[in-house]
Amino acid sequence: MTGEPRTVAVVGGGILGSVLALRLQQAGARVTLLERAPSLGGLAATIDFDGHQVDRFYHVIVPSDDRMIALTEELGLDDDLSFSPVGVGFFDGERTVPLDGLSDFARFPLLTPAGRARLAWFVASCQLRRDWSGLENVPLEDWLLRHCGREVVERIWRPLLDSRFDGNWSELPATYLWARTNRMRSARRNGGAETMGCLRGGHGRLIEATARRAAELGAEIRVGAGVEGLVQGADGAVTGVRVDGVDEPYDLVVATLQPPGLQRLLPEGLQGLLDAYPQRYLGVVCLILKLRESLLPYYSVNICQPTPITTIVETSHVVGTEHTDGLRLAYVPKYCEASAPEFTEDDELLYGRFTDMVARIAPGFRHEDVVSWTVQRAPTVEPVHPRGTAQRLAPVWPGVPGLGLASAAQVYPRLLNGDSVVRLAEEVAAQATERLAGDAPAAPVAALSGGAP
Ligand SMILES: Cc1cc2nc3c(=O)[nH]c(=O)nc-3n(C[C@H](O)[C@H](O)[C@H](O)COP(=O)(O)OP(=O)(O)OC[C@H]3O[C@@H](n4cnc5c(N)ncnc54)[C@H](O)[C@@H]3O)c2cc1C
Repeated sequence: MTGEPRTVAVVGGGILGSVLALRLQQAGARVTLLERAPSLGGLAATIDFDGHQVDRFYHVIVPSDDRMIALTEELGLDDDLSFSPVGVGFFDGERTVPLDGLSDFARFPLLTPAGRARLAWFVASCQLRRDWSGLENVPLEDWLLRHCGREVVERIWRPLLDSRFDGNWSELPATYLWARTNRMRSARRNGGAETMGCLRGGHGRLIEATARRAAELGAEIRVGAGVEGLVQGADGAVTGVRVDGVDEPYDLVVATLQPPGLQRLLPEGLQGLLDAYPQRYLGVVCLILKLRESLLPYYSVNICQPTPITTIVETSHVVGTEHTDGLRLAYVPKYCEASAPEFTEDDELLYGRFTDMVARIAPGFRHEDVVSWTVQRAPTVEPVHPRGTAQRLAPVWPGVPGLGLASAAQVYPRLLNGDSVVRLAEEVAAQATERLAGDAPAAPVAALSGGAP
């Protein structure tokens, strides 16, 4: 960019907004990052949990998260990034068994030998497939039945998908499991246990370091600065944002909020932009337990039967217990829509219901071992992309001068996670830089390059 730096407001200080702010500032823009909460981080923020700083939701980095890993290196945090092998368990209603490599798989009791063979073939063929476009319009259930057979679908996939999508995954395309299987590919080395990484001090530290680097380069980082609305000029262009009742002018505004949050910012005349997005969103209600004893030898448990919780994630297997005075952390999430009863349920009742299930899965669980607990709720976590999403992915540049829309809702077919969000932020920063330099294409531009996750 030449001449006076162009001014850019980035709305939302989660991973996406923070990386976008850094990359735009590095490219010569004058960036203001506006975050409504008192601190940065969004879903990946750190919270004070009775005197210990912990991730608000469980977060790991897998070895194929190359953008996240590169970011930690760039920010000088790579010495604090460590990877360790973790165990994964499967609960079938009576027992929890490990699935940590080929020898466990060979005697995996939830499936017959024929079922195991079909599942192994299915996973291998997913991992060999590079081109996902043929799966875009294929209903996930049909695809699974065709490739895995009824036994594997009923015993494994249906209960797992039911608990992950709150009982409704009929609109999902086959790309979902293709992407999930591929993301985990690099986590399993030589057919062995999964390998997971974490940043000492929590995921939120990466976001704070990103924003700090942007600030060192001249960006303005404002927390407690909730954007009340976008400001639109008489010609329809977006000319700025309103914060605390004051209109602030910017050459470009990029909002990183998913539609439920974005809807509150868009002026009446721009509400139609929301039509391009998926209609259904999942949130998360998550019980966090601080425990004297480990629940299970597994990082996570896949629950292969009807369940009020989605999984149990004992993060101490990855993040250790140094920062929690030797106490262990277990996250017990339930993915559900914002209208689900879990969002308004009394916390004590929720604790009781969720820990009843924990006790079934981890028979050693005792309430006396719970030192403290808390419930975290996030009503908007991820969209449910229906079949055919690739052809109608919401554009980053919706054809409104001065406005960019780059949110987690536009991540597809990759799975939504920190790595894919960093990738989106970096692609959008490059496009925004071109546009600010005046050589941008006029038509709306969709978000992501495809490729394997
Ligand atoms: C339970 C759970 C587990 C996860 N585990 C992992 C994992 O292991 N590994 C991984 O890589 N990813 C994981 N993720 C996904 C990861 O957290 C998200 O992909 C990522 O944090 C999304 O970042 P974001 O910036 O797009 O959105 P968000 O984090 O939602 O950030 C949006 C920000 O915008 C702010 N905001 C909202 N409205 C306004 C407004 N009007 N004005 C200003 N600011 C506003 C919000 O306060 C928020 O800070 C997990 C997510 C969840 C929920």
